Amino acid sequence: MSTAPYGRIHNFTAGPAVLPLSVVEEVRDALPNLHGSGVGLLEISHRSKTFQAVVDSAVDRVRRVLTVPADYQIVFLQGGASLQFYMTALNFLVPNADGSKGQADYLVTGTWSQKAIKEASRIGDAKAIWDDAPGKFKRVPQNAEYTVREGAQFLHYTSNNTIYGTMYDHLPDSQGKPLIADLSSNIGGVPVNMAAHSMIYAGAQKNLGPSGVVLAILSPWAAARIPKGLPAMLDYNVQIKDGSLYNTPNCFGIFVLERVFAWMEANGGLDGAIARNTAKAAALYGELDRSGFWSPHAAKDSRSCMNVTWRLPTEELEEIFAKEAKKAGFEGLKGHRSVGGIRASLYNALAIESVQALVGFMQEFERKNG
Ligand SMILES: *Cc1c(COP(=O)(O)O)cnc(C)c1O
Repeated sequence: MSTAPYGRIHNFTAGPAVLPLSVVEEVRDALPNLHGSGVGLLEISHRSKTFQAVVDSAVDRVRRVLTVPADYQIVFLQGGASLQFYMTALNFLVPNADGSKGQADYLVTGTWSQKAIKEASRIGDAKAIWDDAPGKFKRVPQNAEYTVREGAQFLHYTSNNTIYGTMYDHLPDSQGKPLIADLSSNIGGVPVNMAAHSMIYAGAQKNLGPSGVVLAILSPWAAARIPKGLPAMLDYNVQIKDGSLYNTPNCFGIFVLERVFAWMEANGGLDGAIARNTAKAAALYGELDRSGFWSPHAAKDSRSCMNVTWRLPTEELEEIFAKEAKKAGFEGLKGHRSVGGIRASLYNALAIESVQALVGFMQEFERKNG
């Protein structure tokens, strides 16, 4: 049993993931009575003044922390990042003037971009202009490695590949076309140039809060482009117009997200998060590079600071590693079922002490099994 507060253990889970304990405690305190309204967080009307103040504050904090340009729209949606794969295409990929299918280009760097292009193909001519499936998704492309089609209406990429543990350390070059990104698993944890993107989306359950709420940010180009007459729940403009309150939103999720952004602002903002994440990643990759016992999955120029993946000499040892780690108080280290091996997710709320403890456990494991 862990001696940490509430018996919490080191949580390396890929998502839903660890949240700051202070935020979890604020959630607990809001359950019976939200902000002195006399009504609990799970019981309050989304049309109340008290809840409207939460939504307004969430939008303001997102804009400040992520340096979102003033003319960009910020909305909170449901359906997960997975619904965004379809919605982005439905809203932004329009037929050509002659009625033929519109084109959109995709950088396919893992499972999530594969799913994104599959959904977009229901709407138009979605093409993988770079796809590393044959290379087992060990890296992301450099800008010189692909060419965006002349007729492409946008370029879509996945900023961090949660399952494979790869990440862009540069802004993909959309070659003059609008850039759309799935930032689900590194938003708020790495530098981001919002003004360079025409639209971004992110499920909250990695760095920003609980599952069931999605942050979407739209440029004026994006908002102006949306065709008329889309189903209301799939139309970004409906949620923009109604301030994320067209229908009953995930009130709980928006509340937690607002508190997570407040926690970020109290802890050095985005720069503070980047500094902590850089230190955590350096500690873990340092251990992976120290000994040939570990085989990191990602190529060096594509290493993710959020999800770190590696193999051991045999699958049997990986099985033992995951089991013994769990016993020693490390949660969520078994790799994704599609890749195997080990994965440690180092999201914003994971303390560096947890990474240091894991490195200590790894060194001990190698001494016994190496
Ligand atoms: C987790 C994740 C998703 C899927 O999110 P859901 O909310 O489960 O739909 C999509 N893209 C990326 C990069 C992710 O990490």
